[in-house]
Amino acid sequence: MIKHLYVIIILTGLIGFSSCQQNNQTEEKKRGWALVIHGGAGTILKKNMTPEKEKKYLEKLKEALEAGAEVLKNNGNSLDAVTASIMVMEDSPLFNAGKGSVFTAEGVNEMDASIMDGRESNAGAVAGIRRVKNPILAARAVMENTDHVLLVGEGAEILAEDAGLEMADSSYFFTTSRYNSFLKAKEKAEKHGTVGAVALDLNGNLAAGTSTGGMTYKMKGRVGDSPVIGAGTYADNNSCAVSATGHGEYFIRNVVAYDISALMKYQHLSLQKAADKVIMNKLKAIGGDGGIIAVDKNGNIAMPFNTAGMYRGFITSDGRTEILIYSN
Ligand code: ASP
Repeated sequence: MIKHLYVIIILTGLIGFSSCQQNNQTEEKKRGWALVIHGGAGTILKKNMTPEKEKKYLEKLKEALEAGAEVLKNNGNSLDAVTASIMVMEDSPLFNAGKGSVFTAEGVNEMDASIMDGRESNAGAVAGIRRVKNPILAARAVMENTDHVLLVGEGAEILAEDAGLEMADSSYFFTTSRYNSFLKAKEKAEKHGTVGAVALDLNGNLAAGTSTGGMTYKMKGRVGDSPVIGAGTYADNNSCAVSATGHGEYFIRNVVAYDISALMKYQHLSLQKAADKVIMNKLKAIGGDGGIIAVDKNGNIAMPFNTAGMYRGFITSDGRTEILIYSN
């Protein structure tokens, strides 16, 4: 009798094990990748856009998506995908990050960036840097080469230089259009335009990154939400990856990126519900202009914003892709 019982237990165990294996396999097969990017939110209205300018933005956003998608398609990790997408936008004068960054009240470019790995909550960030061509790489160097999370100014630049990153002088970051906005800043020029990316890779790892020149005519030394982990950037494999753009002070005070992740984790809200609650209700009610892009651990995507427009797009392994500018 006991012998029979043993056989039954062993058989049940074996069947359970093999079906569990099968489940894992189907799960793995089903698991895809997803990438979402933004190029800033603000008063982006179709009536103020020329068809040529619109085309340039759409093309550059497509190029940024393709750069990240290439990494994910080849089983690369989400951190590399996020970095690749952000670098395309940093190198373009169209966006307020890297080349094309806005000017401070003193007429210089001071850039901020951050990156977060959702696997083990590792993160790196830089603020107030003036000489690193791709600030997102400097943020990554802080994460990978130091025990710290956030380095500012000269210290961050020295680290970047030591890490062999390409440096650039102020003339590289200068663009006439941003300089004109700076000159018009007192008359309330457009102030936004950060870039960001979030990704889920084939191994289920989430990552988020954000890079910005900050806000036009900001005070020397002002740091926004973009390099603040939990405010402008956050990633946790157990919930989601978020990158924000908008009026940074509101995003810092409301710990926006972490708030979305916490609503998912502790209140079990869906990604869309959590993101809408924070951006469309909470922030909107207090005049916090902006938006976020996010992807969750299951590949769901959300891109809410409470401004007139947000440069944004996504691409997924099941062939869905979209690039949008205005609210629909
Ligand atoms: N959030 C950025 C900042 O406050 C600006 C932006 O996203 O446009 O520095």
